[in-house]
Amino acid sequence: MQQLGEIRHDWSEAEVKALFELPFNDLMFHAHSVHRQNFDPNEVQVSTLLSIKTGSCPEDCKYCPQSAHYSTGLEKERLMEVERVVEKAKQAKATGSTRFCMGAAWKHPHERDMPYVLDMVRQVKELGLETCMTLGMLDQDKADRLSDAGLDYYNHNLDTSPEFYDKIITTRSYQDRLDTLQNVRDSGMKICSGGILGMGETAKDRYGLLMQLANMPVQPESVPINMLVKVEGTPLENVDDLDHLEFIRTIAVARIMMPKSHVRLSAGREKMSDEMQAMTFFAGANSIFYGECLLTTPNPETHRDLQLFKKLGINMEQRISDSDETQEAALMNDLQKQQDSSHFYEA
Ligand code: SF4
Repeated sequence: MQQLGEIRHDWSEAEVKALFELPFNDLMFHAHSVHRQNFDPNEVQVSTLLSIKTGSCPEDCKYCPQSAHYSTGLEKERLMEVERVVEKAKQAKATGSTRFCMGAAWKHPHERDMPYVLDMVRQVKELGLETCMTLGMLDQDKADRLSDAGLDYYNHNLDTSPEFYDKIITTRSYQDRLDTLQNVRDSGMKICSGGILGMGETAKDRYGLLMQLANMPVQPESVPINMLVKVEGTPLENVDDLDHLEFIRTIAVARIMMPKSHVRLSAGREKMSDEMQAMTFFAGANSIFYGECLLTTPNPETHRDLQLFKKLGINMEQRISDSDETQEAALMNDLQKQQDSSHFYEA
């Protein structure tokens, strides 16, 4: 096996398979070694994700409760007012997030929405937070305007391998997704792109997803790896569970193939035990979403995250608050306020 820890864009399926098939302890050792070469192993970057427009999406992603194609009982919301978004961003900053991600269930942003979206980017950026958005497909013009407004990251997931893709989505093609990512890259923004595991894909599809991401001319700066959250009413509600060890292996292989990217534990984390999360951090995951609901699926309560970080001796990357106590107090206050307003989950 060639030198691990080198950034490469020519991974073959045989090489990726060989990594996945290493004895578990060897794989964990290699992944953790690569992780240590590139990051502080006791630091995790924390982002908050807010749904700024919920439901009625014309796309048919089979895992998604926001798709208009499925009846999941999700409460729809129109585009949130800019002031409300900024208020949420302030709360996220007070509880230690360094990046604020705003997601809208659109095929692509419409021209009529652009002034609001651009205003959100400018105002959230002024708070000193990194900004990220996920709004669907982007042409070059919209990507450039978002970049000019100060958007740091754009999230657009590849979801799975090109071969499995049309079993999951038929309303936009894999090439559409790659084109959006290219437009984002050409506009100068950073890319957040990853996928979802446990949708009934094969091991080969997991290799394929990682190869697509790692073999891009510039690897995505952020790679979210989601575990499917099975939502009643979606076509994937009864799909078989993915073995947790296979999930951890995928994180480890992602770390080896994309040594300098932040590998993000995303949806599905609320079902993971502390031990499993600890194992994924060891395997190379070093970014999470916390606080708000993960778009429309529940995220573990933020205080559970803080407790876990404390138990593991993990610090938040570029922590904004000056002490655990300040942060925890702000957090509890925030949670209380959200519960009081019956708006704990955004959906
Ligand atoms: S994943 Fe995104 S694009 Fe697909 S249905 Fe859900 S909101 Fe729409």
